Formats: sequence, C-alpha cells, structure tokens
Amino acid sequence: MSTDVTPSGARHRASAAPDASLPVQAVDGSVAQWTERYTHALMDTFGAPQRVLVRGEGPYVWDADGRRYLDLLGGIAVNSLGHAHPTLTAAISAQLGTLGHVSNFFASPTQIAFAERLLSLAQAPEGSRVFLTNSGTEANEAAFKLARRNGGPDRPRVLALEGAFHGRSMGALALTHKAAYREPFEPLPGGVEFLPFGDAAALEAAFADGAGTQVAALVVEPIQGEAGVRPLPPGYLALARRLTAEHGALLILDEVQTGMGRTGSWLAYQQPEIGGGIVPDAVTLAKGLGGGFPVGALVAYGERTATLLGRGQHGTTFGGNPVAAAAGLATIAVIERDGLLDHVRTLGATLRARISGLGHPLVTDVRGAGLLIAIELARPVAPQVAAAALEAGFVVNPCTPTTIRLAPPFVLTEEQAGTFVDFLAAVPADLGADA
Ligand SMILES: *Cc1c(COP(=O)(O)O)cnc(C)c1O
Repeated sequence: MSTDVTPSGARHRASAAPDASLPVQAVDGSVAQWTERYTHALMDTFGAPQRVLVRGEGPYVWDADGRRYLDLLGGIAVNSLGHAHPTLTAAISAQLGTLGHVSNFFASPTQIAFAERLLSLAQAPEGSRVFLTNSGTEANEAAFKLARRNGGPDRPRVLALEGAFHGRSMGALALTHKAAYREPFEPLPGGVEFLPFGDAAALEAAFADGAGTQVAALVVEPIQGEAGVRPLPPGYLALARRLTAEHGALLILDEVQTGMGRTGSWLAYQQPEIGGGIVPDAVTLAKGLGGGFPVGALVAYGERTATLLGRGQHGTTFGGNPVAAAAGLATIAVIERDGLLDHVRTLGATLRARISGLGHPLVTDVRGAGLLIAIELARPVAPQVAAAALEAGFVVNPCTPTTIRLAPPFVLTEEQAGTFVDFLAAVPADLGADA
C-alpha cells in the first residue's frame, strides 16, 4: 500500500474554491464514516462503495483516509487524461465562467466546433451530423430511435449480440443482453433479437430468406467491454457491413467504451485489424469523450442517416451543453498535442506483453487493444484479485468472475504500469482457492 502525506483532497482544493465557507466539497470524515453515510443517502444499486475517494492527480486517486491508488480503471474507461488534468480543468472553468448553459433553442460556438471535430475524427462523409447527449445510454437511445426511423413498422427487427452492453435506460436496456439487467424491467421496447456473439452463420441466417428487409439495424460493440473485453472475430464487421448494406439496415457501432482513443485510434473500427476497413452508418460515443466530464454523442454517417431524426423527433435539455463540449474539445486537443494515441498503442502492447511474459499460473490469456485490456484468469477469482490489488494500491475491475479489466488513463507511464505488473507477479497462484 502506498500512502500520501500531503493534506487530504478537500484541503488541497480549498484555495480553488471561491468561498471555502460554502459546503460545496464535503471535507471531514474517514472512509468508514463516509461509507456508513453513503448507505443511508444513496440507493443501493451499486452495492457498497469499495472506497470513498477525495481527490485525484494524473493516474492516481486518494481515499478519505489518505491512501493512494494507481487508477488502472480510469472511472471505467472515462478519465483518459487522468485526474485533474490542468488543460481540461482550465477549459471547463473558462467555458463555465463564460457561458455555462443555453437551451437548445440556441447554439454555442463551442458546441458547433465540438460536433465538427467529431465528424472530422470520424472521417465521416459529407452530410454527416452529430446529436450530442450526456451519457452512453442516451447516445444509444438516440441510435435506437434512428433505427426505428429506418423503415418504421416495415422494419421491426433490431439485431444485437449476446453479451452486449448498451446501457441501462429502457431502449438501451432492450439492446443489452444480460437477463439480470433486463428482466426486472420488462416489457422493454420490442423487436430486439440477440444473435450468438461473433457467429457469422447466425448473422447470415438473420438476413436470409427475405427476413433481412425487416431489419432496421444491427447494433454492435467492436470489442465487447462489459462482457470481458471480447473482440469480434476478424471478418465479422465486414460481413455485418455487407449484409446490412444489402438489406437497407443500419450498421450502428457502440464505441462508448472503445472510442476516443481507448484502443489507440480515435475510433476502434478505424483500425483495419478491428474494423476490417468498414464505414458504419452510425457510431455512439461517451465514456472517454469528455475526459471525465459527462458527454455523449451519436454520429450519423452520410446525409440519409443523418436526417432520419427530423425536427421535433428527438431532444435533450443538457445535450450539447457548452461546458461538456469544451471538455470534449480539450480532451481531444490534449490527446493530439501529447501524441497519446501512439502512447496508448505502445504502452498497451508493452503492458499486455509484460503481463503475458510473467507466465503466471493464474493468468490464461491477456487480450484487448490499446489501453482496454483483459487479464483472463484460470479460476473465477477475479473479485479476490481485484480486492488484493486494491489493498496493494491499484484500482482494477473484475468485470466477469474470471476477468480483470484495465482501462487506465492515457497519461499512465510505463514505469507506473510496471508497478502493477510487479504486484501481479507476486499474487499467489492459489489466491482464493479456499474461498
Ligand atoms: C458504458 C457503456 C454504455 C453506457 O454508458 P453510460 O454512460 O453508462 O450510460 C453503453 N455502451 C457501452 C459499450 C458501454 O461500455
């Protein structure tokens, strides 16, 4: 465990607060005290928090007891620039201090520039357009409505994959495969069919015998994140592109987790090894898009798709908020200025190689792209490994019983990453065996 001797977070920040006497940032209390208060104030949807964190800097976070952790989860693939990045903080503060919010009866230059930037990163063709949201699930809601507008009642079918995670609001939930997430909330929007993951024959069958003309859209993650960083088999997206195009269905890629540099390119599908050279009809983004500030987007490619949602057919109060747009622009600018896409690719490859190279008996596979990495374990002890990591000062995520997921900030150095490899090397092969 690492400890930090600098003053606790709130004190550290106090000088930045306009009036320290206002209770804007709660300060005093231990992890135990805050955890107790959490259980009375917050709904129990997430279970008990593992720690209560008070501040962050770069790839590190500190808890209310002053313990420091190397954040290898990055708020689940969100904090691409790490914590409290000065450029991001300054951009957000400057925008908030200039124009913080306007209704969508009005526009802001920041919002427009952000949408233009996204279209250019996506290399989207002429006529493409963006709808800005506040989260991933909302980006997928917009995508679902886009799909419904593609053919209406004549195309009731929407295809998704087993293992898919697309969010928790009702439309996105209908596209999410896990029964435990979906079933308590049925009936959900209808027409969704789940195809076996990565199964080319099943995909062809879904479009066969005239049924393909009833498909409004196929929604897929290029690499399934929540399901354990599962890449689609080579050729699958190319086949998906061919079948959807032949039958007039939309190919919608959910890059909420894989997008905005996470895999070493702006969008994961842009890497030929992942996307097979395809161009989708739409992409959804969120997580890393604002570097930690909530923002999401639906990018619709080409004029026809970009105009499926017409005036009055969709809306949002906060989506397109100038502060969120400023966060997005700043995040993109830093990734570009600091050459972080290259860094993500090389550090990701190095980290995967170093973990594999340990030859640890508990590790059966290391996969992923860029800094979206899964460590597959021989036994279902991922929660125990994650707990041991936390005790040792590392935040990682047991996203399945056998999988540890890493999605660290892009600013992570090889040396910092190496401290986790050293930790892993020392994990006993029989960890959790008696559990
Ligand atoms: C996280 C995630 C979502 C949901 O995003 P929220 O911002 O939590 O609503 C959707 N799709 C994928 C692939 C995700 O990883």
